[in-house]
Amino acid sequence: MNEQKRYFSRELLIWYRANRRDLPWRRQQNPYYTWVSEIMLQQTRVDTVIPYFHRFLEKFPTVEALADAPEEEVLKAWEGLGYYSRARNLQAAAREVKEQYGGQVPDDKQKVSSLKGVGPYTTGAIMSIAFNRPVPAVDGNVMRVLSRYFRLHDDIAKPSTRVNIEYLAEELIPEGCASDFNQALMELGALICTPKSPACLICPVMEHCAGRIAGEELVLPIKTKAKPPKPEQRYAALIVGTGAHAGKVLVRQRPATGLLARMWELPHMLVPKQAGLIGMNDDAAMDMLRGAMLSEGVQVKPYERWVDAEHTFSHIHWRMRVFLCEPLAADAASIFKQVAGDHETEYRWISPEDMEQLAFPNLFLKLINDYFKTSLQTIG
Ligand code: SF4
Repeated sequence: MNEQKRYFSRELLIWYRANRRDLPWRRQQNPYYTWVSEIMLQQTRVDTVIPYFHRFLEKFPTVEALADAPEEEVLKAWEGLGYYSRARNLQAAAREVKEQYGGQVPDDKQKVSSLKGVGPYTTGAIMSIAFNRPVPAVDGNVMRVLSRYFRLHDDIAKPSTRVNIEYLAEELIPEGCASDFNQALMELGALICTPKSPACLICPVMEHCAGRIAGEELVLPIKTKAKPPKPEQRYAALIVGTGAHAGKVLVRQRPATGLLARMWELPHMLVPKQAGLIGMNDDAAMDMLRGAMLSEGVQVKPYERWVDAEHTFSHIHWRMRVFLCEPLAADAASIFKQVAGDHETEYRWISPEDMEQLAFPNLFLKLINDYFKTSLQTIG
């Protein structure tokens, strides 16, 4: 190992041991805690994750508890964190760990990496943080730090670059210190060598940082742009109950596979591209929505535009226009009994209290809560 590398590993470790943040998953060495925290931290900020982490472990304190829980409960505990396939995969993998390894996360790189939803980064994080094994954990933060420090100009969006950086990161792990060193790298990326404003002047490895010396700390890492999310326009129906269902809202469950599988939502439809969202007047839009609802056996009359909302998933951007609707069938409960096609879509009338039982994606959680808030204020 050359001096630039030795210096990096040594100084980083010293800095980390003096400055590490007190994070709940660091308070005790428990592979299950490390695993849950690493899955939650994917695409999500530390501050956001902390309360979720506490609640999740209170509800599911062990691998077995998670494995045995109904999926609905797990999704509910994840509600608001987004990327729900993470929660589903985590539970599926917890079941594997329960059945195949007696509920103990195995101290074995191959076995850990074969668990559902556990990719090379998470494998490295679990093996190093929880078991102190010298396995690199390379994510976007680590690639940024190492690209800058070693002044690497390879495109970090390419898998071959990641593989090369993994070799480099592995070589840098000081003997017997994998847990602290990998966390130190992550910590440096999170606190000092940040994407837009690296704090080089207080960085523990600035002296030998080739990117900084070349004045390229803001140029690196090189990353080709991912494709922007595909825009989709949607009309949604906020169907307000009458009679026995007065004050309730009709929600439906998403299919068992695909985006946001089995979560609950307001019924909505994809607007054909040529129709457009902005170009279409509300009467035509409400007509289209009425027809789409009817094709699912739900007879409603949209009568007024309520609100516009947007949400970006990793690959799709939804622009949604929500219309208030009234149920048309004489018995409002029966409006969703006949379901078109060969699959059954479940619909339910829900009150504000029922929101506690069902898991909603953020977009709908906010819309429905907003509706209940406004309607209660109106009544009050
Ligand atoms: S000196 Fe600057 S660019 Fe280099 S690792 Fe430190 S913060 Fe990043």
